[in-house]
Amino acid sequence: MAYSLDPRTKRLGIMGGTFDPIHNGHLVAASEVAHRFNLDQVLFVPTGQPWQKEQHNVTDAEHRYLMTVIATAADARFEVSRVDIERPGPTFTVDTLKDLRLQFGAELELFFITGADALSKILTWRDHEAVVEMAHLIGVTRPGHNLQNPGLPSEAITLMEIPALAISSTDVRARVAKSEPIRYIVPDGVSFYIKKHRLYLDADKNPDPQSAGIL
Ligand code: ATP
Ligand code: MG
Repeated sequence: MAYSLDPRTKRLGIMGGTFDPIHNGHLVAASEVAHRFNLDQVLFVPTGQPWQKEQHNVTDAEHRYLMTVIATAADARFEVSRVDIERPGPTFTVDTLKDLRLQFGAELELFFITGADALSKILTWRDHEAVVEMAHLIGVTRPGHNLQNPGLPSEAITLMEIPALAISSTDVRARVAKSEPIRYIVPDGVSFYIKKHRLYLDADKNPDPQSAGIL
């Protein structure tokens, strides 16, 4: 593989998402990629206002951020970034990558982790050419979605099979609204947080039409 071997260069994985809420599918994907690519850190980056999800009512960013912090707290490889929450306006991956480069400096190799569903739409992302220049893309399997290169140069992207977890945030929200269990689907702390703040009880806010029917 053509990745830099300079020991000073930090290898940073980035996992963007709405995380409404974060679930074990996200964590397994990040953990597998961190192991396979020998990453120093995986940064979970909750979105601000997600431009592709305007049709569904996204939970307040602070709740999504705190659930992400809780879910990742026990893993030394995982951190959470507020860059997308703090940038006004909709979140575009190209801006996330630019901000992280500024924040972390030049000695950085970026690996952008994305599931098969998001990967298939990558050519519709704003400035996707710049995204590919700034980060190596890692497409991970996700049940219900085909994992294939959406037409990017093969050196820009690695496709990776991970143990399949047929979990989505849409399903977690629907389960909470129906009082069905979410134990073992989200970390316990996230489940306690959801209960404490009475999140996702309003069934009208579910489901996200884009992801409905995955499970
Ligand atoms: P929603 O149902 O609200 O769309 P989601 O479960 O898809 O939520 P997102 O926050 O939209 O979660 O996803 C963030 C990233 O994690 C995306 O790249 C998505 O493809 C990936 N991802 C989500 N769930 C899984 C899973 N079970 N396995 C692998 N990747 C996943
Ligand atoms: Mg999704």
